[in-house]
Amino acid sequence: MAVHQSTRSANQPPPLAGYDLFGADPALVEGVQREGGAAWEEQLTALGTTLGGEPLEWGRLANEHPPVLRTHDRYGNRIDEVAFHPAWHSLLRLGVENGLHALPWREPVPGAHVARAAGFMLLGQVEAGVGCPLSMTFAAVPALRAEPELAAEWEPRLTSLSYDDGALCGMAMTERQGGSDVRANETTATPNSDVWELDGHKWFCSAPMSDAFLVLAQAPGGLSCFLVERPQPGFRIDRLKDKLGNRSNASAELTLDGAVARLVGEEGRGVRTIIEMVVHTRLDCVLGATALMRRAVAEATHHAAHRSAFGKLLADQPLMQNVLADVCVEAEAATATALRLARAFDEGDHAFRRLATAVAKVWVCKRTPPLVAEALECLGGNGYVEESQLPRLFRESPLNSIWEGSGNVNALDVLRALEREPEALDAFLAEVRLAAGADARFDAALARLERELGDPADAELRARRLVERLAVCLQASLLLRHGDPAVADAFCASRLEELGGMFGTLPPGLELHAIVERHRPKL
Ligand SMILES: Cc1cc2nc3c(=O)[nH]c(=O)nc-3n(C[C@H](O)[C@H](O)[C@H](O)COP(=O)(O)OP(=O)(O)OC[C@H]3O[C@@H](n4cnc5c(N)ncnc54)[C@H](O)[C@@H]3O)c2cc1C
Repeated sequence: MAVHQSTRSANQPPPLAGYDLFGADPALVEGVQREGGAAWEEQLTALGTTLGGEPLEWGRLANEHPPVLRTHDRYGNRIDEVAFHPAWHSLLRLGVENGLHALPWREPVPGAHVARAAGFMLLGQVEAGVGCPLSMTFAAVPALRAEPELAAEWEPRLTSLSYDDGALCGMAMTERQGGSDVRANETTATPNSDVWELDGHKWFCSAPMSDAFLVLAQAPGGLSCFLVERPQPGFRIDRLKDKLGNRSNASAELTLDGAVARLVGEEGRGVRTIIEMVVHTRLDCVLGATALMRRAVAEATHHAAHRSAFGKLLADQPLMQNVLADVCVEAEAATATALRLARAFDEGDHAFRRLATAVAKVWVCKRTPPLVAEALECLGGNGYVEESQLPRLFRESPLNSIWEGSGNVNALDVLRALEREPEALDAFLAEVRLAAGADARFDAALARLERELGDPADAELRARRLVERLAVCLQASLLLRHGDPAVADAFCASRLEELGGMFGTLPPGLELHAIVERHRPKL
């Protein structure tokens, strides 16, 4: 007897592909317009449309075929090469050709940081791995400018839109005995006529196939920043890390064995020099985390709009609506924060940027894993299956919080900013207070924040509590002033009084359906 097999699965959503990732995200489009990036809308639409096509498959392929280290050639010569799947190169080329590593340096005009941020968040939805070399190359430029001669030599290559002829830059700070505490670095730097020689090991160095690296090492005058070019015999890749996520990207352990290097900035002021790079990569951690949230929200809202259970679409079930709306609210808050922060970089607003970067780095990155896990669950068993992309988003989701200063390290950096740079708090509060009077719940939260700020007891112990309050007050202020009113209402109803909490716990009386529809991509 023939077994009847339907060729079309019932009650399964159509693939979330073949659409413009930019245009389908009103929170992103409105944010780009508001924060000064409108001139790049056409470009972002083109990028969003491209990304909604074949690159989605490239993202899968680049992860299914992770990079492989080849230390030697067939004759035993040392080559230290990392071989990537072609899909990796296609994704990275797309990022470079769209200037996601360089736009604000190529076009130093208002809005360029915002436009780049939006593009970076679009690419990050398709595959996060290439964000690492793009981000480090972008961030290296302002640090390199501490050394005008080196900048003149490298900047044209690092900001080139040619993937084949341009250059990429990485960063090697972390060593076995310490990552957060870079002052414990043991790599040494010895002057040798007009260059330096570096000797030591680096425990994490991502994108090790880059053309150059900013490296911290101990010079006679103290910890200093150096530019190390590759390939060179003194730069050896020992092995690649077997990582939880971010698998399309290579992260290596290195040996520096008399590696030729040039000093960047003053000897003994290495942290001060490289912090310019770190500040920009911290911005990108916020962008990268936001991108993961957005893709997870897009998948969850799409699935629920097409899947029925117990005779009704998931999207119409009250409790599922609560979960979906809650993750949408979080993603919109992250998007508004990310773009406002990018504008501060456009405006050279150091005071606001100083505190807001650290606060957003902690908070947005910390919110990502629980959000992605919740979005994954909205797809039920499908979400646990690799093809859905949710497992890849989930594995990636803790990373932005770890690198460039893990959660605690950035929370302590918030305290440092509060203590040493009072103008940073003034600028932050001035921004937050712009929404004063718009919502009684917000006003009460602002008063609580100010009380908390005025309490010096147990500051280190309370650092995360303080960061959380700073973050939600900034996000509420942004949403009340610029966000969708239903989203702002839901945010104030759920995030200002109690800290943390599970998604899907919005109180009754909110416009859940409207919130979800705003965030659901329309194919
Ligand atoms: C995939 C990946 C790629 C990476 N790529 C690079 C790279 O390209 N270049 C590079 O230089 N590094 C890179 N890193 C390293 C990364 O930056 C470090 O892992 C990170 O800075 C933390 O350092 P650590 O691992 O030594 O942890 P530790 O410094 O030992 O910290 C461990 C934990 O202790 C916490 N902690 C530290 N100090 C304090 C304190 N005073 N109070 C309270 N808590 C504290 C930290 O927040 C953290 O949670 C990469 C890491 C990963 C996972």
